[in-house]
Amino acid sequence: MSHSELHADVTDSATGETVTIQTEHGLYVDPKALSAHLPALSYRDDALYMEQVSVDELAKQYGTPCYVYSKQAILDVYQAYTDSFASLDHQVCYAVKANSNLAVLGVLVQAGAGFDIVSRGELMRVLAAGGAASRVVFSGVGKTYGDIEYALTQGIGCFNVESISELTLINEVAAALNKRAPISLRVNPNVDAKTHPYISTGLKDNKFGITHEDALAVYQQAADLSHIDIVGIDCHIGSQLTEVAPFVAALDKVIELIHSLRDHGIELRHIDLGGGLGVRYIDETPVSIDEFAEALLPKLSELGLTVFFEPGRSIVANAGVLLTQVDVLKPTEHKNFAIVDAAMNDLIRPALYQAEMAVIPSTLPSDGIDTNGTKPWDIVGAICETGDFLAKDRLLSLEAGAVLAVTGAGAYGFTMSSNYNSRPRASEVMVSGNNHQLIRKRETVEALYADEILWQDK
Ligand SMILES: *Cc1c(COP(=O)(O)O)cnc(C)c1O
Repeated sequence: MSHSELHADVTDSATGETVTIQTEHGLYVDPKALSAHLPALSYRDDALYMEQVSVDELAKQYGTPCYVYSKQAILDVYQAYTDSFASLDHQVCYAVKANSNLAVLGVLVQAGAGFDIVSRGELMRVLAAGGAASRVVFSGVGKTYGDIEYALTQGIGCFNVESISELTLINEVAAALNKRAPISLRVNPNVDAKTHPYISTGLKDNKFGITHEDALAVYQQAADLSHIDIVGIDCHIGSQLTEVAPFVAALDKVIELIHSLRDHGIELRHIDLGGGLGVRYIDETPVSIDEFAEALLPKLSELGLTVFFEPGRSIVANAGVLLTQVDVLKPTEHKNFAIVDAAMNDLIRPALYQAEMAVIPSTLPSDGIDTNGTKPWDIVGAICETGDFLAKDRLLSLEAGAVLAVTGAGAYGFTMSSNYNSRPRASEVMVSGNNHQLIRKRETVEALYADEILWQDK
C-alpha cells in the first residue's frame, strides 16, 4: 500500500481537526491532533507530556533511546475490556509477547489480569512479576518436553494445543509427572483477518492451529488420552485487525464446533477468542473495544462458557513511546535523512511489517505545515542496512539535538529489539501521574559480550 493510498487528508470526527495531510513531498502528521487520540500524551503549550511528566525531562534524565510507558493508559485499556464484557464470566489474558517488562506485567497482575504466553521464558517472567500460573494460557506451535514439564509443574491454567503431536507429548509429560494437563485446541477457522501477511494466523496455509475440519476428531483423540483434561477451545486469527467481521466469522465457526462437540459428549468450560484487536497508529479507524463486545456478546452469552481473551497490542501499544534524539541531519539532493539514536534494532516494526508509526516532536517549533524549515525527512538509524528506518517522507521541522517521540511503540517495540551492530538495548521507563521510574536499565556494551569466550589455542 502506498503512502497516498493509506493517508487521505483525515479529518477527525471527534475533534474536527485534520490529523494527516498527504502532500506530494511527504506526510504531515499534526502532532496536536494526533496526541488528542493518545490518552497518555498531550501538548502543554508546545511541550509534549506523558501523563504529568514532560517528555524532554524524561529524555534528559534517562537518556535516549528510551521507551516510556504510561501506567494509566495500560490500566484504562485493561479496564475497558473487563467493563465491556462485565456481563459474562471472563478472563483477560494479556499477551506477554507484546511487552514483557516485569513492571508492565506487575501492573497487570495487580489489576487482576491473566496472561497468554508463548514460551517458558514468558511464564518465568509472569511468575517473577507475581502472577499465578493458574491464570496463564500457554500458546505456541513449538512447545518442547522441557517447556511442558515446567508449565505443568508450575500449575499452568491451560495449554493451547496446536497439533496432534503436541497433544500426545503433553499427555506423555503429564503421565511422567503423574498430573492431568488442562488443554484446549487452537482451532484454525480459515478466516482472512485482512491484516499484514506476517501477522495473519488464521488461514489454512498459516502454521498455526488445527484445521476446523480436523478439530472434532482431534478432540475425540484428546478425550481418550489418560492424562489430558479438555477444558476449552481457542482461536487467534491475527493481529492489528481493524474490522469486527473476521472476529465474528471466526466465532461463528468455533460455536459450530462447540455444538458438535456437545453432540459428541465433549463439554468445555471456556472459549478463548485470542487477541488481535487493532489500534490506531496514525489514522486507522479500528473497531473499539465497546463495538467489539457489542458484536460478540449476544453470541457468547448463549454459550454459557467462560470467555478468555488474549489481547496484547491493544493494551500496550498506545501506552508507549520511543524517545529518540536527532544526531545528524543529512539533507541530500533527492532525500533528507535525519539520523537518530534509535534504529531498527530498537524498533523493527517499520522494517519488518512496513508499519507506519507517527513521529512527533517533544517541543513544537510552531504550528502548521507551511512554516519555514518544514521538509520531508526519512527518520533513520545508524545501522548498516537500508531497511533501517523508523519513518519515511515525514514533513517535520528538525534540528540536530531535537527529541522525537515515536508513538504507538508500547507493543512489539522493546520485545522485538536486538543488539544488532552491538547496540545496547534502550532503557525503559514507566510514568504514573507525576512520578516516573526506570523499569529497565540501558544495557552496557560490556554486558553484550560478557558471556563470550575468546578462543584459546591449546
Ligand atoms: C500474539 C498473540 C496474541 C496477541 O495478539 P495482539 O495482536 O497483540 O493482541 C494473542 N494470542 C496469541 C496466540 C498470539 O500469538
